[in-house]
This record gives sequence, structure tokens and C-alpha cells, in this order.
Amino acid sequence: MQVLSSRAQVEKQVNALKNKQLTLGFVPTMGALHQGHISLIEKSRQSCDLSLCSIFVNPRQFNDPADLARYPRSPQKDLDLLQKAGCDLVFMPQAEELYADGGHEEYDFGRLDKVLEGAQRPGHFKGVAQVLSRLFKLVKPDKAFFGQKDYQQYLVVKELVKLLKLPLEVIPCPIVREADGLAMSSRNSLLSPEERALAANIPFWMNKARELAQRLDADQVAAEIRAMMANVNGIRSDYFEICHPEDLSPCHGNVLPGQSIALLAAYVGKIRLIDNSLL
Ligand code: AMP
Repeated sequence: MQVLSSRAQVEKQVNALKNKQLTLGFVPTMGALHQGHISLIEKSRQSCDLSLCSIFVNPRQFNDPADLARYPRSPQKDLDLLQKAGCDLVFMPQAEELYADGGHEEYDFGRLDKVLEGAQRPGHFKGVAQVLSRLFKLVKPDKAFFGQKDYQQYLVVKELVKLLKLPLEVIPCPIVREADGLAMSSRNSLLSPEERALAANIPFWMNKARELAQRLDADQVAAEIRAMMANVNGIRSDYFEICHPEDLSPCHGNVLPGQSIALLAAYVGKIRLIDNSLL
């Protein structure tokens, strides 16, 4: 496995493999890697000749400076995990070099970046788009792998690739969960043992939403889950919404299988967690 830290090193590697007509799979991450990230590397390895993982805690996508300051970082452990997973290339850029052009471009994603995470975290998707547009243009991958844990991000990225007209396939990958159902997240390591126990409510509510959707309409399911969330001390709901999975427009009326997705964000103590599930 080769670890690259400059744009020039990436360009050299990418040119070499393009000359050999090898395909490249790309997994962008912010590090503090866990099995969810590794599942993306595995997916990439299954369908591409070589796989590149980037590790970069992108300051531009944090709307809360405290969240950026406490974001977990474990570079050596990350490299060990990537090596074991058979990753070929790792890119660990510096912000100064990645953003050397000084650009703060904006894209029109319609409603996709304005609702849910977009509404609660102003500027978040602008920052995501700014880092990914630079990484995509540099790495020139054939496929890029994204977890459905960040479902809204996956939709925004698909739109970004369309707007930039990049010859790149965006592949969604299933959510990897802990034994009690909590979606794996780098932020889980910041939870105290008590908060970690409370966080198990989140997958419980997602399962409950699926169960209720068999007999209640979308508004009724949302009302029931919001009431349950309001009843747990130590968890503060940010949102629970049921939306159409293609454009995140709100769902009302009957929940048809595969046509609705429940999305949730909540603070457990100071740590903000998200989850989602197709209903
Ligand atoms: P992050 O490091 O949080 O920016 O995540 C990097 C990539 O890993 C994103 O595509 C995430 O959606 C994906 N990811 C994070 N957690 C999980 C998980 N539990 N299951 C699947 N993919 C995940």
C-alpha cells in the first residue's frame, strides 16, 4: 500500500494506472475508520483493479467548530486497517494544498441540499461538494463508493457528478451496523458508556418505523416516532422525516414498500448521530 500526501504524487500514480488501462475505485473518508468504511473498500476491490482511499477531515463541511475540533483522528490505526483490507493507495492531503486554488464555488442541487441535513447544518453540503469536486478531478476514479448511512450525501454526490459531467459511477453501499443495530460512525467513539447505551434507541426507532409503516400512514408513523423520541431523556431529536428516496420530498399518505425512506438525526449528549431506513 502506498501513502500519498501531495497532489503531484496522486497525479503520477493516476497517470501510471490510466496508461495501463487499469480501473480505479475511490473511497473518500474523514478517517477514524471502522468496518463501515472498510465495507466500501471491499466493494471497490470487488469491481475495480485498484482502490484509493482518501483520509481528510474537511474543515469546510463542518458548520460547528466544536464538532470539527473534537472529530476523532486515528491515522496510524486507519493505515493498519486499510493495509489489512487490501487497499492499494491512500491519499492524506493537507487543506492548504487541496484548497490552494482558493475557490468557494457553489452548485445548485435544488431541494437536495436544503432539507434535513442541509437545513440543520448550513453550508455542510457546499463544503462536501467543494472537497469532492477537487478530489474527483484529481483522482479521476472510474467508480466512487458512498455509504447509504449518509443517504442525503449520496444523492447530493450523484447530482454533483451529473453537474460536473464527470465519467464516474457513484455506487451506494449498505449501512454497516453494530451488534445492537446502531449504525457504525466515527462519532460513536465520542459517546460515554451511558450515551452509547442510549444511542441504541436510534436503530430501535428505525425498526419501529418500519413496523408501523405496515399499518399507519406516513404522517402517523412520523408522529409516533417523534413522540417516542421526545420521551427519552438524554436524546434530543433534530428531525425525523419520511421522504421520497429520489428527491427527499415529504411523503404523506400510505407508505408503499421501497417508495419511502425514514431519516433521523438526534443529539445523544453533545454528539449528533444520523440514521435512515427504507420503509
Ligand atoms: P465519513 O468518514 O464519515 O465521511 O464517511 C466516509 C464514507 O463512509 C461515506 O461514504 C459514509 O457514508 C461511509 N460510511 C460511514 N459509516 C458507514 C456505515 N456505518 N456503513 C456504511 N458506510 C458508512
